[in-house]
This record gives sequence, structure tokens and C-alpha cells, in this order.
Amino acid sequence: GVRVRPKVIGADALVPLADGRRVPYANLDYAASAPCLEAVHEAVTRALPYYSSVHRGAGHASQVTTDAYEAARDTVRGFLGAWRRAAVVFTRNTTDAMNLLAHAVPRGTTVVVFETEHHASLLPWRRAVRLPAPATPAEAIGLADRALAGSPAGPRLLVVTAASNVTGELWPVHELARVAHRHGARIAVDAAQLVPHRRLDMTALGLDYVAFSGHKLYAPFGAGVLAGRSDWLRAADPYLKGGGASASVTASRTRWAPAAEQRHEAGTPNVLGAIAIAAACEALTPHWDALAAHEERLLVRLRSGLAAIPGVRELTLWGRGPRVGIVSFTVDGVPAREVALALSERHGIGVRDGKFCAHPFVRHLLSVNGTEAGGGTPAGDGTAVRASFGLGTTKEHIDRLLAALGRLASEVADTDDWSSSPM
Ligand code: PMP
Repeated sequence: GVRVRPKVIGADALVPLADGRRVPYANLDYAASAPCLEAVHEAVTRALPYYSSVHRGAGHASQVTTDAYEAARDTVRGFLGAWRRAAVVFTRNTTDAMNLLAHAVPRGTTVVVFETEHHASLLPWRRAVRLPAPATPAEAIGLADRALAGSPAGPRLLVVTAASNVTGELWPVHELARVAHRHGARIAVDAAQLVPHRRLDMTALGLDYVAFSGHKLYAPFGAGVLAGRSDWLRAADPYLKGGGASASVTASRTRWAPAAEQRHEAGTPNVLGAIAIAAACEALTPHWDALAAHEERLLVRLRSGLAAIPGVRELTLWGRGPRVGIVSFTVDGVPAREVALALSERHGIGVRDGKFCAHPFVRHLLSVNGTEAGGGTPAGDGTAVRASFGLGTTKEHIDRLLAALGRLASEVADTDDWSSSPM
């Protein structure tokens, strides 16, 4: 890999603390939205002067914009290792991509989904069989195998995440794809938390569908992708009906565009969003090894540091195995919201707290990791804290978080009633 990693913009921002000091922001919330890459910023700036309508105008700017939009689609296809005829539909985000797929599955499709999924992948399906959280990756494969073997004939779809937004753990999507195909089912993978960290090759892994969001891939908000097999998408009515999706319209009859992309991208598309995603794909591609090595160093530092702080408990499903730069934890006796506010107001650290749009999964993790066993503590409110990182994260950010948590934990130990003590 290339040693110099791509740079994010805004990494040197100062943020105010409660005591009025200003400190460099330690952004540990990449899993929610990652900061923008310099290369993405430059690509969008280059495209702005040619900002014009796509697919309709004959003018020069319109042609340049249209070419850039279609080139972005090809870049994404290459980035995902998708086959040449795979559909690559630009959506608003992962949520939109999964809802588009849910809209396009043939009537009567049985969807099999783990309850550990983000709500974006858990909720859109009309008829879903929900599988419980598996205790090991092997159990995940066994559960999927049995569910698909026992499901009724007809179209079937297995939906699973590639990397958990709560624990960062990687799921065995290659093996799950094999299981799905053995049963004549398809597999759709939520790659929102994988593609910012690891190369994903749809063809090599045998994935039928992949969804992700630009704003987690170092590009701005508002654009995402659904890529995969085009037959169901071409057969379904448009997800959005309107201009662009229709091939011909008369008083009595509408014929929809036959290609999956046109059919499901009605209205004026987010061209700058697509260009931004493509720029991020191109900027990341030469750097996977350097990125993984950087994250692994930070991950080891963070996890061993957390393990050494009394009362801090990491949430993990499998405990071991490959993972991306996402770690969730609780602090005994302190509600997650209070932890997150203290980190922000006293230390300039940005983390997320809550249930991370994965309520069943967080509930499960809290029970298996024993954080509610403490009973009676104000931390038992079903929430956790999540630290997540990537290209712009430094050792100093991790060390600042660990020092802050160490201080918080010792304050809790010195206080009988944390909830009434001043922050
Ligand atoms: N899936 C996963 C695994 C996620 O982490 C997220 C974002 N938290 C989503 C789906 C939804 O992404 P978006 O909000 O961009 O639609």
C-alpha cells in the first residue's frame, strides 16, 4: 500500500469546552458521518462550475455533468468489484437503498434478517424471518442455513451487515453468500460500515446486492448506492415515479424506463453527491493496507486501554475476530448520555451515545456483556457510548478519550450518588 494516507478536511478545528478553553476537536464519531476527504472537496469544487442538469440538456455544461455522473457510476461499480452489467443505482443513503430493494423484491419474497441489523436493514421488509443474535460467526452461518432450508419455496433474500455499526465486528458475508446460494436465495449486504475501512469485492464474495452511504465514506451527505443484480429492479415499478423514470407517457399509458438506474432515479439526481462518492472511492483505493494498519494500531490501543479502566465494559458479540474502528462501551454507574456530554464539554471529544438505530442488538449486547447485571445503577438505561474512527484519527485522540474515561471512572468511584454530583 501507499504510505501517505488521504487527508480529511477540518481535522484541525478547535471546539469550546465548558470552562471556555478551546481545544482541537477529537472526532471519534466517524461511524455516524465521516469527515470529508481533501480529494472529495477538490472534486466537488472542480464540478461546481459545470453544475447543470443531467440526461436532458444538450448544452455543454449539461453534457459535462451527465458524463461526470455516469463516470461516477462506473467508478462505484469498480470500487465495489461489481460485474459489468450490475445495476448501480444512486440513492439518498443506505436507508434509501435498502427501502428501494425492499420495494423491488418480487411479491411473496421471504426475507431472512438477523435482529442484530441496523434499523435501515431490519425494518423495510414486508415479510421477514428474524434470526437471533448468533454467539459465534459459525452460529450465524448455521442459523441462516436452517432458516433458508425451512423457508417456503419462492424468492428468498438473506440480509446481513458486513461490519456492525455497534461493535465493528465483521460478519462472514462470503460464507453466508455461499449458504444463501446453496438454497437458491440471494444475499443483500449492508456495507455502510465496511466500505470506509476495507476493500469489498462483490464478485469475489458472491454478493447479490450491496448498499452504502456516501457520508460515512468521507463524502458529504445526501447520496448513497444500491448495487447488484438488475432483474428484480428492472421488473419492479419505479420506487419514485416521475421524470426520468418513464420511457413514454400518453394519456392512457406509462411505460417505465427499462434500465434499473433510470427506472429508480426519478427526478433530478444528486450529481454532486455521486461525484463526491466517486472521488472518495478513487482516493481510498490505493490505501487499503495503510488504512487498515492505521486503524488496527488505534483499535488495539483503545481496546486495551478501555479494558484497563475499572467499570468500563466494551460491548462485543464475538469478543475476537476482525473488526473495523468502532467500539461501544458502558461506564458502570454513569448513563451513556452523561459520559458523552462529559467527554464533549470537558475534553473536546465527539462520540455518540444511545442505541445506534439497532435497538434489539444493543439490548442483546447489554444483557450478554453483563452491563445491566449491576442493577440499580443509572447506567442501566439501555444505552451505550460509541467511539469510532478512521483516516483523521490520531493516537492523541485515543489517549485523550482513555484519560477522560479514567478520570470519570475514578470520580464515580469517589462519589456515592453520581447522578446528583456536578459534572
Ligand atoms: N446501516 C448501517 C450499518 C449503519 O451504520 C447506518 C448508519 N448509522 C445505516 C445503515 C444507515 O445509513 P444512513 O443513515 O446513511 O441511511
